[in-house]
Amino acid sequence: MQQRQDAGARLRPSVESHGKRRSTVLAFDGVRGSGGWQFGEALAMSFPSAPSVARPAGVRSRPRLRRLSSAAPERVADGVWLLRGGLVRTMNVYLVEEPGGSGVTVYDAGEKGMAAAIVVAARGFGGITRVVLGHGDTDHRGAAPALRAYADVLCHPDAVAQAEGSGGRDYWRMNDLPLDVRLLHGFSHRFVWDGGPVHIDDTVEEGDAIAGFEVIDLPGHAPGLIGLWRARDRVALVSDCFYMTDMHGRRQPPAVPLDAYNLDTAQAKRSIGKLASLEPAIVLPGHRGPLTGPDVVAQLEAAAA
Ligand SMILES: [Zn+2]
Repeated sequence: MQQRQDAGARLRPSVESHGKRRSTVLAFDGVRGSGGWQFGEALAMSFPSAPSVARPAGVRSRPRLRRLSSAAPERVADGVWLLRGGLVRTMNVYLVEEPGGSGVTVYDAGEKGMAAAIVVAARGFGGITRVVLGHGDTDHRGAAPALRAYADVLCHPDAVAQAEGSGGRDYWRMNDLPLDVRLLHGFSHRFVWDGGPVHIDDTVEEGDAIAGFEVIDLPGHAPGLIGLWRARDRVALVSDCFYMTDMHGRRQPPAVPLDAYNLDTAQAKRSIGKLASLEPAIVLPGHRGPLTGPDVVAQLEAAAA
């Protein structure tokens, strides 16, 4: 692991501009052209230009909102718990029990509204020891800024720019999405999923040990996408290495993520192939799942083809 204690110094000059908001309006020309400029404005994606290095205050927790934001933790493998969040429960956050100690590693941070549910669920295991982002997209860093009140946030070095910056927006090709999906996602990224840029305290790379798992590189969908792999029972946590949901949140068999959202689709397929070659028994993706059963490897190989 490479400590990023210098990050405060590095970011200090830009912290002065913190609070200024940079806005990027995605292609909503059709909406504007039809006189719906206010709707277009509402869909503008804006985000602070730099994440705050200072720790935030703790998360306020209202039981009713918490239950709305996430289901109760579900045990999906030895010492691994899944929080299904979001309105239709497609946003996965995993709590991984620390071996021989108290606390849990949080893998992926879901959407921003899940923060309180994550904190309360983790408390039952002794609290959050660290937050590891599978990648820096809006719907995976969502609760991470709020969780920094409790623990460091880590990701792969190649994911730092996205986690601390646009959350994927600078390379997505939203114009390639169907209009209805573009509008729905434009709104969701801005108002529902993204908690904004998060300061990354430390980085992890392939081979590093995390809560009894080892880090594996699975880039392609996003830069620096990492999974966690545990050979003893062949469990893999893989974030968005593949999708088990379509663009409307409906279930689908494992597939390479939609090209419009990928940094490099060919690389994403190679990463799915790499995952298949590990012959996992249980694969825990970033949305829906788990992927289990006798044909896990065959399904991954089909998605990689
Ligand atoms: Zn995702």
